[in-house]
Amino acid sequence: MFPNSSLLAQRTAARTPFAFAARTHQMMPSETRALFSMAARQDIVSLAGGMPSPEALPAPALRALLDWVLAAEGPDVLQYGAAQGDLVLREQICSLMRAEGIEAVPEEVLVCVGSQQALDLVTRVLVDPGDSVVTEGPTYVTALSTFAAHQAQVVEVAMDQDGVVPQALADAFELLAAEGRPAKFFYTVPTFQNPTGRVMPPQRRHDVLEVCCRAGVPVIEDNPYGLLHFGDQPYRALCADAPDSVIHLGSFSKTLAPGLRVGWARAPRAVSSKLTLAAESAMLSHSRLTQRAVSSFLETGGWQDHLRAARGLYRDRRDAMLTELAASMPDDVTWTAPNGGFFVWLTLPEPLDARAMLPRAVEGGVAYVPGTGFYVRGGERHLRLSYSYPSVCQVREGVQRLAEVVHAESTGSGVPRLREVFPR
Ligand code: PMP
Repeated sequence: MFPNSSLLAQRTAARTPFAFAARTHQMMPSETRALFSMAARQDIVSLAGGMPSPEALPAPALRALLDWVLAAEGPDVLQYGAAQGDLVLREQICSLMRAEGIEAVPEEVLVCVGSQQALDLVTRVLVDPGDSVVTEGPTYVTALSTFAAHQAQVVEVAMDQDGVVPQALADAFELLAAEGRPAKFFYTVPTFQNPTGRVMPPQRRHDVLEVCCRAGVPVIEDNPYGLLHFGDQPYRALCADAPDSVIHLGSFSKTLAPGLRVGWARAPRAVSSKLTLAAESAMLSHSRLTQRAVSSFLETGGWQDHLRAARGLYRDRRDAMLTELAASMPDDVTWTAPNGGFFVWLTLPEPLDARAMLPRAVEGGVAYVPGTGFYVRGGERHLRLSYSYPSVCQVREGVQRLAEVVHAESTGSGVPRLREVFPR
C-alpha cells in the first residue's frame, strides 16, 4: 500500500533513513568542479579547468564514424560487451603504448570508463581501508578523492623540478614500513604532470624505479598526457622498464575526446584479471559503441594527423602563456615551463595566498585552481593554470588579468577593475 500524502509529507520532513557508509566520510567535492561553471561565464577567462580545446575535438569525424559503425555492425554494437573491453581496441591500445616503450598483450589491458575508472578499480583491488598510498606532492586532485573514497591514508612526497625526490621517496617507504603500514603503491604522473606540467627525466625515472623496486612497492603510472608532447619524441614510460611492478593507466580523453569516456589500465596478468572482475561488478560492460568509435578513429579517422594538430594547438597556447607570464608577472613570481600536456604551475612570493586571492582574481576577470586542492595539506602559495581550453588571445588576456591581480595583491593596492572581455 502507498503511504497517503500527509504521511509522505511527514516522511519528507523527517531525517533521511539512509545512513552513509564510513567510506563516504572522506569524500569531498573537488576544488576544480565548482570552477568548471565559471568557464561558461562570458566575463571570466578561465585558466582553471583542464579540458581539451573544443577545436581539438573531432566531432564531424566521429559523427561519420558512428554512422558507419552502426550501419556496418547493426544492433550488435548496441549489445552488452565483454567486461575487459573490445579485443580489437585492446590490440590497438597495445600498439599505441609501444610509442612509449611498453610491450603489452591484450590480455593485460582492461578498457575503462576513462582512466579515472581505471584508477578507482586499481585502488579497489589493491587498497583496504587504512592502507597507505604514497603520492607526489602536489598530485592530481581527483586521485586524492579516489584514494579518500577507498579510505586510504595518503602520504605525499616532495617534488623538485624533475619530479618526486628519490631519497624522500625512499625515506617515506622506510618510515611507513617501520610503522607497520607499508605503502601499498606509489602513484605518479611522471609525464606532463597534473598539476605542475613537470616531466621526470630518464635518470630520475631510473632512480625512482630503483627505490620502488628496493622497497618492494609497486607503481601506478597515470599517463593521460604522454602523447601530447611538444618535442619530437614521447618519453619512455616507467612501465616499459618494469612491466611486472608497474600498472600503467592511459586515456583517450585528452588526445581524442573526454566525452567518449574511454581509457585503460595495463597491468600484469594476475592484476588485470582481478581488475576485470572488479569492472564487471562496477559496470557489467563498457559501451561497445564508444569503443568501436575510438577503434575506428584509430584505424581510419586520421589519428596521427589529429594528434599532430592537437600538439601544435596546445604548443601555441603554452607559448602564449609563457610569453605573457614573462612579460607581465612581478619578478618574484615563478612558474614551470611544460614541454607537453595542459598545465603551468605558478608559485607566488610570501606572504601571498592563492586560495585567498581567488575571489579577487574572479572579480578581476580570471579564474585558476588554487594549489591547496592538489595537496593533502598546504600548497597556499601555488596555483595551477591551464592553457588547453582558452584560445591564444584568451590565454594572453587571462594572464594579464592575473598579473594585475598579483601586482595589486603584492602592493596591497586592492582589486583591479574588470576589463572588457577579450579585447584582443
Ligand atoms: N589522471 C590525470 C592525471 C588526469 O589529469 C585526468 C583528467 N583530468 C585523469 C586521470 C582522468 O581522465 P579520464 O578519466 O577522462 O581519462
